[in-house]
Amino acid sequence: MKTIDRQKVEKLSAQEGRTRGHLRISNRRKDLQRLISSILIVGCLVVAIWASVVFFQANNNGYVISVEGQEIATLTCESEAKAAIDKYLQAQAGEFGYEVTYNQDLKIEPRPADQCNFISSDEAALLLDDCLTPVVEASILLVDGTPVMALPNEKEALNVLEKAKGYYINDGEIIYDAKICEEVAVVTENRSPDSIVMGDIARNILLFGSPQDVTHTVVSSAETMWSIANQYQMSVNDLQKANPGLTSDDLKIGMTVRLSAIQPKLTVVVVKEVTKTQAVAYQTKTIDNSDMLRGTQKIITPGKAGEEEATLKVVETNGKQTSASKISSVVTVEPVTQVVERGTKIIVASRGSGGSGIVSWPLRGKITSYFGPRGRGYHFGLDIDGTTGQHIAAAESGKVVCACWGGGYGYYIKIDHGDGLSTLYAHLSKIVVSVGSTVSKGQYIGNVGSTGNSSGSHLHFEVIVNGKQYNPLNYLP
Ligand SMILES: [Zn+2]
Repeated sequence: MKTIDRQKVEKLSAQEGRTRGHLRISNRRKDLQRLISSILIVGCLVVAIWASVVFFQANNNGYVISVEGQEIATLTCESEAKAAIDKYLQAQAGEFGYEVTYNQDLKIEPRPADQCNFISSDEAALLLDDCLTPVVEASILLVDGTPVMALPNEKEALNVLEKAKGYYINDGEIIYDAKICEEVAVVTENRSPDSIVMGDIARNILLFGSPQDVTHTVVSSAETMWSIANQYQMSVNDLQKANPGLTSDDLKIGMTVRLSAIQPKLTVVVVKEVTKTQAVAYQTKTIDNSDMLRGTQKIITPGKAGEEEATLKVVETNGKQTSASKISSVVTVEPVTQVVERGTKIIVASRGSGGSGIVSWPLRGKITSYFGPRGRGYHFGLDIDGTTGQHIAAAESGKVVCACWGGGYGYYIKIDHGDGLSTLYAHLSKIVVSVGSTVSKGQYIGNVGSTGNSSGSHLHFEVIVNGKQYNPLNYLP
């Protein structure tokens, strides 16, 4: 059957054509896929090779620590190298008790290395200890601008200053004020840890000038300054310098004696409240008694000190009391006032009939001129005849207030006997006492002469009561 259904053929043809086109498209897609796969494979290979190279390189590099250009240690990685330095610094801090650093040039650098050369951070830390010199960023304490010590840090500097103040403060005391008189400052400087001081040693240097307050405790009553000096092979002179004013007599068992002179760097002033039992001085009441001779006195009631519980505000400078003022007090034992009777009686009498005898004769001799009107004037003394050079005696004990040239008096002496009474001796050829000296009754004070307004050698003698001359005969025996 040749008859072909044309429509069918056409339909088939169309179907065939579509199928052929479809096949062409399918082949192109496969090519593209192959290409992409190839690229991916090659890319992966490249990445893998690169990663291998990087990995390989990483595992063959060490990290070298060098100090001042000299290689000290090789570690596996940078963090290990840093850990080694940290361990070194921690060990130093542990040894000294404070943070330290170092001055040298220290570097960490990657370097191709053989794994066999790698060491641990602990080992590297020990090697660093051999070649690094530790330094401290120290706090230098300045007292009035002068550096006195290096401390590890400012906190320790402040701590030591507080310790110095606290040394003079006891538990339970009431403190009004505690201060350091000097200007204190802190500056930062790099220092070797060997030069650093801290704690009680630093405090002692500030307070005593030496790391230790070296003392000796008296254990026997037989000890003397000499025996203590001898025991410590020092001179008595040095021991005394360390303990101003201390003598062998002051030594008591249990007493602390310093063995080195204190040279404090600071002046610590503490103002504190102190309560103590102390004596209350008695008062003296004087009653004049006209029945008793002038110059005599009698205790009617003996005085007796009382006692009080006193609260004092005390100022101490480096532990020594420099002043104290009473805040309050309660008298526990009243003092007894001393009552004294003082004689005021002056006997007025003339020579020969027994004067008061308050003063004695300064010179024995003829009276050549009496007290009273003389010529056109007035004679304020008594002239006693004598020869030049004869000794003159003090008429009463007292204090020399004049011993000099006095114009018409010539060389003269005036003695103050107290209670307004004085005596005067004029025309002397020689004075053997000086102003301010104390003389006793009858003591040799000078020689008869004829100096000044005098017509011949004699003693002009005056008795002065409250600045006014009186007839000496009334006061002589
Ligand atoms: Zn005279």
